[in-house]
Amino acid sequence: MEEISNFIKAIMENDLKSGKVKQIVTRFPPEPNAYLHIGHARALITNFELAKSFGGYTNLRFDDTNPAKEDEEFVEGIKKDIEWLGYHPANVFYGSDYFEQTYELAVKLIKKGLAYVCDLSQQEISEYRGTLTEPGKDSPYRNRSVEENLELFENMKNGKYKEGEKVLRAKIDMASPNINLRDPVLYRIIYTKHHRQGNKWCIYPMYDFAHPLQDAIEGITHSLCSLEYDNHRVLYDWVVRVCEMEHVPQQIEFGRLNITNTIMSKRYLKQLVEEKKVIGYDDPRMPTLAGLRRRGITPEAIRAFVLSTGLSRVNSTVERDMLDHFVREDLKLKAKRIMAVTNPLKVVITNYPEGKVEYLTAPNNQENEALGTRKIPFSKYIYIEREDFVLEKPDKHYKRLALGLEVRLFYAYFIRANDVVYDENGQIKEVLCTYDPKTLSGSGFNERKPNGTIGFVDATENNEATFNQFEPLLLDTDENVDLLDRVNPNSWKVLHGFVEKGDYKVLDRFQFLRDGYYAVDSDTSKLTFNCIVPLKSSFKPSDNH
Ligand code: ATP
Ligand code: MG
Repeated sequence: MEEISNFIKAIMENDLKSGKVKQIVTRFPPEPNAYLHIGHARALITNFELAKSFGGYTNLRFDDTNPAKEDEEFVEGIKKDIEWLGYHPANVFYGSDYFEQTYELAVKLIKKGLAYVCDLSQQEISEYRGTLTEPGKDSPYRNRSVEENLELFENMKNGKYKEGEKVLRAKIDMASPNINLRDPVLYRIIYTKHHRQGNKWCIYPMYDFAHPLQDAIEGITHSLCSLEYDNHRVLYDWVVRVCEMEHVPQQIEFGRLNITNTIMSKRYLKQLVEEKKVIGYDDPRMPTLAGLRRRGITPEAIRAFVLSTGLSRVNSTVERDMLDHFVREDLKLKAKRIMAVTNPLKVVITNYPEGKVEYLTAPNNQENEALGTRKIPFSKYIYIEREDFVLEKPDKHYKRLALGLEVRLFYAYFIRANDVVYDENGQIKEVLCTYDPKTLSGSGFNERKPNGTIGFVDATENNEATFNQFEPLLLDTDENVDLLDRVNPNSWKVLHGFVEKGDYKVLDRFQFLRDGYYAVDSDTSKLTFNCIVPLKSSFKPSDNH
């Protein structure tokens, strides 16, 4: 597996060497307001891999300081996703567990003259804040006495005011060139039941106040976050300093990961789910970890993919192809290679005895003998892919079946197509073939070369199956087009056919020999396979089986 190596690792190395820190402690701090997506996987993998590479540890901390959006369902979903990726947090903490300490520290700031209760409305606060080019102006409530602030803040806590009526703000500098330092809000009033605290609190700390304190309380040494927090760092450091936290964590920002033709924002993913554009957070087209898992993508592939994208201080957008590449790499030797027919055409082998069934030996993976062999049935009636047959060979590159031509069936015999039977709609219903018993695969027969090799599924012994094939969820249109209008209406194709007889369990993964990698879907009402990734389009069928 790829080793993690990036600019943050270098910082950590230095901090250990200089004695600034004794051990590396990181945290992954998701807000439990949706499921994790593959962008989060970058943050998650980075935190866990870095700490691990220095013998340190990583906490999982649910950043649940906004009761309006959070839910227990997401807490459980996120835990499951992290385990699935193969990571084990040293501790599972909740930001809300620190509400008492955070409150005490706010009181401390009031006493130090560094925080005040402000009665301006949200709109007035932003008007007073100024712009990048103009300084802000002081709130008329900025010079309230410590005593008054203590009383008002306690009243806020005791539910004496309505939402939006008052907030607690830091008293820093309304003229600071960094707008985040222009008296940021530290606490606001929210009367919503919290998923863990119930109705105990009606004041909630803002991220910029809560997060540095949580990091300091937990002894986090390196607090990694995405680039948009870059100009919050000064505030982060201010909070830790003025609260006189014993432990001083360090915030480091890194670029976000985006993937083409998908959306990497929880808000939008939620919208897709709520507007029923997808079947849920675990829709196999979703970039959520739950969706990727259901699709059949392996945690190993996600880890290798994320590590290969590297890490820097710029946001990056990579092609979905790149993830697909790592999926194929991971499954190439692991997955059993079996045969399925997703768009079946019946073949009758006219010279094969009625009622006879042979069991032919097939390797489970030609490139990995350790996976062993299996027996596949073969009889007078089989199915092949409709697209593996045409009436007349179109050109010399065509390497499949046509009337008058002979192809090899994988692990079986050569068959020659002699005639077709049409149904009442004029569609080809059956192909009538003859087989040559001398040509059994492995017999060493080499008198004739077939016109290619094709797959088949026996028509008497098999499993009926549904096959889902996917295209990107979002069309490649302008980013400014409304998300719901970008949804690709053809992103989910359903096919019905047959697969080799077997005992298939949810998430079993296979390579369908000529087609792609598939996984058994979690809906067990009928046997369904999700296409994880197609085989490379450059895949050329070969003759040597
Ligand atoms: P979103 O913007 O999708 O709502 P978020 O950043 O609000 O995501 P959090 O739950 O706060 O979601 O994220 C937890 C961690 O994951 C944070 O450290 C965040 O910076 C990081 N993260 C989220 N999305 C990405 C991404 N696309 N690439 C890298 N890191 C990300
Ligand atoms: Mg966030």
